[in-house]
Amino acid sequence: MSHRSLIERSPTGLWCPSGGFHIDPWGAVERAVITHAHADHARPGSKRYLSATDGLGVMRRRLPTGRHEGLGYGERRSIGDVVVSLHPAGHLLGAAQIRIERRGEVCVFSGDYKLEPDPTCRSFEVVRCHHFVSESTFGLPVYRWPNPDTELSRLRSWRRRCREEGRNAILATYALGKAQRVLAALDADDAPILVHGALRPMIDAYREAGVEMPEVLPATREHAQTHRGRALILAPPSALAGPWVRTFLPASTAAASGWMRMRGLRRRRNVERGFVISDHADWPGLLGAIEATGCERVSLTHGFTAPLRDHLRRQGHDADILATRFGDGEEGDADLPSESATEAPGEGSADAASGGTSLERRPESLLFEQDPLEDRSS
Ligand SMILES: [Zn+2]
Repeated sequence: MSHRSLIERSPTGLWCPSGGFHIDPWGAVERAVITHAHADHARPGSKRYLSATDGLGVMRRRLPTGRHEGLGYGERRSIGDVVVSLHPAGHLLGAAQIRIERRGEVCVFSGDYKLEPDPTCRSFEVVRCHHFVSESTFGLPVYRWPNPDTELSRLRSWRRRCREEGRNAILATYALGKAQRVLAALDADDAPILVHGALRPMIDAYREAGVEMPEVLPATREHAQTHRGRALILAPPSALAGPWVRTFLPASTAAASGWMRMRGLRRRRNVERGFVISDHADWPGLLGAIEATGCERVSLTHGFTAPLRDHLRRQGHDADILATRFGDGEEGDADLPSESATEAPGEGSADAASGGTSLERRPESLLFEQDPLEDRSS
């Protein structure tokens, strides 16, 4: 049985011909089924959006135009000749894997996912399928996450030390997902917590959805004066590169991201400290998730696709690359890997990268002006 036709590529994005809808399209379409609200998966301009009910508030803030409809996790919906259901991806609030079934044939599109528990969203659910379409953002053996609780404890220790030294602690986090995950791990002992204006709308959306987080104050000049040298300040990575940060000196800077596994990227971000807290699956997580689906075929959409494909083939899997325009799944704010992402890890055991082709990998977002189908065909 061929499973190829349940998801195909089209100029505007991935397309389910039997259902007549697109999946996380990068162009404007009639009907889009969306895995999650990160900017590379949820783009404006389409007429109708279907996404998980849990994340509707987030989705509407990200895409204020278009008609939005929610589907509860596990709820089945007939669309054209297929049955669609959404299943938790563990990536952020409302993130879903899309299960598409047609006459007993099942394809699951993962979107972005992680396996670690996250108090701000539902945990990743294994969905058995014939064809699994997986992300591979961190598809290199060097990417192995430490225990997230340990990293969050390190983060809080750093924050306390900064306060003792009379310095603000400025943490670079993505506006959607990471900021709320970090906040949910904090409590009143971590006050005062200031947040950059770019983070506020999504924090509000999470609160409205019932996610509990400690009180935060806007990171204004006034609050900078009042809490000088003792605040924890959350800001998007781009803010740390500009003049904004000067208002909050003296300060220590850090970032929370899977890319912090690489020392070179920490330097590029101009931060002193890195906490390896990712909302994507690491190498063992990707392999484990793919195996658990029991799939006959796996397609990889973005990230280090070639090394993961080659590894899976060596393990006897039917694996290929489905070229897309998805990036590292975040905010498109310069927190992107580059050639330097392939250098040795900053600490811990240094597993070798899995092959020469991995060193040629470039972030997809740098390819937006080109035809990604051309560029990623190898
Ligand atoms: Zn994402």
